[in-house]
Amino acid sequence: GRLMRGMMMDRPLSITSLIQFAAQYHGDTEIVSRSVEGPIHRYTYQEAYARIQRLAGALARLGVVEGDRVATLAWNGYRHFELYYGISGIGAICHTINPRLFPEQIAYIVNHAEDKYIFTDLTFVPLLEALAPKLAGVEGIVVMTDEAHMPETKLANAMCYEALLAAERDAHDWPTLDENTASSLCYTSGTTGNPKGALYSHRSTVLHSYTIATSGFGISSQETVLPAVPMFHVNAWGLPYTCAMLGAKLVLPGMGYDGESMYNLLNDEKVTVTAGVPTLWLALLDYMRKADKTLPHLRSTTIGGAAVPRSMIEEFEQRHDVRVVHAWGMTEMSPLGTTGYPKRRPEDMSDDERLALQLKQGRAIYGVDLKIVGDAGTKLPHDGVAFGELHVRGPWVIGAYYNDEAGTRAAFDDDGWFRTGDVCTIDPEGHIQIVDRSKDVIKSGGEWISSIDLENMAVGHPEVAEAAVIGVHHSKWDERPILVVVPAEGKQPSREDILAFLTGKVAKWWLPDDVLFVDDLPHTATGKISKVQLRERLKDYRLPAE
Ligand code: AMP
Repeated sequence: GRLMRGMMMDRPLSITSLIQFAAQYHGDTEIVSRSVEGPIHRYTYQEAYARIQRLAGALARLGVVEGDRVATLAWNGYRHFELYYGISGIGAICHTINPRLFPEQIAYIVNHAEDKYIFTDLTFVPLLEALAPKLAGVEGIVVMTDEAHMPETKLANAMCYEALLAAERDAHDWPTLDENTASSLCYTSGTTGNPKGALYSHRSTVLHSYTIATSGFGISSQETVLPAVPMFHVNAWGLPYTCAMLGAKLVLPGMGYDGESMYNLLNDEKVTVTAGVPTLWLALLDYMRKADKTLPHLRSTTIGGAAVPRSMIEEFEQRHDVRVVHAWGMTEMSPLGTTGYPKRRPEDMSDDERLALQLKQGRAIYGVDLKIVGDAGTKLPHDGVAFGELHVRGPWVIGAYYNDEAGTRAAFDDDGWFRTGDVCTIDPEGHIQIVDRSKDVIKSGGEWISSIDLENMAVGHPEVAEAAVIGVHHSKWDERPILVVVPAEGKQPSREDILAFLTGKVAKWWLPDDVLFVDDLPHTATGKISKVQLRERLKDYRLPAE
């Protein structure tokens, strides 16, 4: 036989088509932003698209051509939204930089990416002033504000965003780009070694948008969506694209991530759907508890980036009637890998069964192939018990790191699957449960102990605000877990109290050998507890029995 080619149009998937669709058919739908300058800014998809075309003109006038990298250092706001579309639309690459990285890491990635321009919010002008001597390749800095707010700056080539746009027209002749053209670049937070770049394409971005649209986030044209995950971290999980695709109202919180600011915006804009990492929701729930508030409009929140504690699901559902969908993903996966929209109807499950499934990191979604692999590279069964390193493949998973051969070599298995570095089980229905990072799992007497499981149980204790578990050296068992606890405000739980709370919830040999109390835990640039830094802080610690 001979393969026949399908006879369908070869229309490329493109990021520009998303915003054009939104402008044409959802032209009146709003994008609301808390601006860095202060006030709430509102406009519509139609107005956004007009300005995106101006921006494309401005970029061309600055000499940005296809394949150039243009960086952003910015919060979630309408100008950042415009840059997502304007830069990618002309065939250049929107490189979102995480401002929470160490300054040296920021300099490293700007130079590694060879960014031609950096667009920055006012907040980060001082940071750029300090870094400027190290950023020799950057031709200019565009400050994302109007002329009235332009700061006095030592930066040599600083321009004003609004002035650039004012010189252009509301029209642009977009190029037709091959769908595999690079569109956006995001570096991993790099807990070990240098950050590594994930280079997305128009095709991967549009396919990922469809996936977010169909994977239980609950977004549609009737919803108001607040991406509480930053636009500098994996493109805010792709939500600025999916909202345009579906014509959903978009609410962008600027730099207001504290509980009160988040609450006010969610409430004022009657947000119905949101998504973010657990740390952020801890702050919101804490605020709502103390201020005795609730969010009558909010229906659904998708939580990922770190494991969602049981207490968080219960508080959202029972006090606020908000459905929690637990998701898992990573920068290298655009980021969505799995989501936990329930497979069965609520009436077909007991509450306990439902909660047990919600605590898992979601289940397989169409498009992402999953396998778990044991020590010797053997494939393990999807029985919900065996755990091994999770390897994945799919059209929105990276095929290589950007200009990083050593990093790439280490990240893929012999069959070309991406090695996630997460250790998990997969049950027959496709639910995954992350047991640990392969670097963090505690190896005790030849068996593995999940630091994440212990942490989740510990934060269920009412007097525990945050908890981390690490393995420390033990002469007989190799490693034993210790628990490091940040007490809840004004509380002083005892070691015995906490160990008693855990007893019976885990196998006896999983119980931590010690409990330490600290005022705070170190976090990475993406809000995860930094085990590397915690181990460093505790490097002189010895177990009581040693
Ligand atoms: P990042 O690329 O910074 O988004 O980090 C991705 C990593 O975050 C994953 O490899 C996991 O280790 C972790 N992660 C993401 N989602 C979850 C989750 N729901 N539960 C536990 N860990 C998660």
